[in-house]
Amino acid sequence: MIIGVVRETAPGERRVALVPDALAKLTAAGLEVIVEKGAGVGALIPDAAYETAGARVVSRDDMYKQADVVLRVQKPSEDEAKRLRKGQAVIGLLQPLLDPKLMEKLAGGGVTAISLDAIPRTLSRAQTMDALSSQANVGGYKAVLMAANAFGRYYPLLTTAAGTAKPANVLILGIGVAGLQAIGTARRLGAVVKAYDVRPETREQAESLGAGFVTLKTQIDATGAGGYARELTPEERAAQQAELNEVIGGMDVVITTAQVPGRKPPVLVTKDAVAKMKPGSVILDMAASALGGNCELSKAGEEVVTDNLVTIIAPENLPATMPVGASSFYARNISALLLQLLKDGALNVDPADEIAGPVTITHGGEIRSEAVRKLLNPEAKA
Ligand code: NAD
Repeated sequence: MIIGVVRETAPGERRVALVPDALAKLTAAGLEVIVEKGAGVGALIPDAAYETAGARVVSRDDMYKQADVVLRVQKPSEDEAKRLRKGQAVIGLLQPLLDPKLMEKLAGGGVTAISLDAIPRTLSRAQTMDALSSQANVGGYKAVLMAANAFGRYYPLLTTAAGTAKPANVLILGIGVAGLQAIGTARRLGAVVKAYDVRPETREQAESLGAGFVTLKTQIDATGAGGYARELTPEERAAQQAELNEVIGGMDVVITTAQVPGRKPPVLVTKDAVAKMKPGSVILDMAASALGGNCELSKAGEEVVTDNLVTIIAPENLPATMPVGASSFYARNISALLLQLLKDGALNVDPADEIAGPVTITHGGEIRSEAVRKLLNPEAKA
């Protein structure tokens, strides 16, 4: 079986699906790897490094022609989707729920679409394949560094002959994978860290990393299915907001990571909260996208400075800003999934398999994912 690696085409995307270090395991399993010319450039990996690791470097046309399975980070562009052919498989973070129409097109073309964002995350043997976690981890780390860079003061307490610098007060909103990494990173830089989440179990996790958990008088338990949060009711939201605004006002740096699967991210930092912050404070909104973000004033992909001199940074693709580390984790995830699916020289897409089942979004001309089918045809009965 021939495995192709694409050169990503999404704007600003610098990651690559496979790094040379990941090749040995694949070739040992009898797979041949071909790499589109320049695929690793964004992640500072020259074509020669892939060749040394045993891959063939080919043109884009040849990669699509020869590969049985195409590996990528982001979903294919329209042009790339057209290049995929019947019987070919594509594996990546395809975001099927955000772009169900693309899944329809791939199914129509007889392409097997396998998405890493559909990995069952609580299944322990799927943990090595959990690209959402590995990339959120990179994001949480990089968010703290970017916020530190934009903050005009020190994070740690510093006592010097020229005076004493007070430590920065950093608040992390949302204590999932990214939030936990952000807590650890901010602590290592010497900040005083507080954190908040609507899932009470996160208190212990935050405290074990040295953050103080923010306890609101309004006790909310919004633990949802699969370890995720559920959306808050309007009453819960209002009560939470009023109290959070007070906490946010006293912070130097606020990093927000809150997400609710399949929904717009919740607004946790309102205009009023920003107005209460001191000049020089920084907000970094990790949830910002075209759908909106955790901060009411975020502009996805931009850095804005408000009238009261608060900097709001809303990066759209943090993992791509650390492409070497992010690609290396991602390559582990995608190779683990590929090897897991491999059976008798072909991909096993058995719907009954606890990993192959959920990750296979389209196969044999059909859309397998019920969630995608529902999005395409909301009226249809299940
Ligand atoms: P996520 O990106 O969906 O959300 C980030 C955080 O935002 C979550 O902790 C969520 O509770 C929080 N949040 C949502 N609404 C909020 C609000 N209104 N106010 C404050 N916080 C809010 O989460 P994630 O990082 O993908 O992780 C989701 C869950 O999956 C976690 O429980 C995590 O431990 C679990 N997980 C488990 C495994 C595993 O078992 N192997 C692997 C990865 C993740």
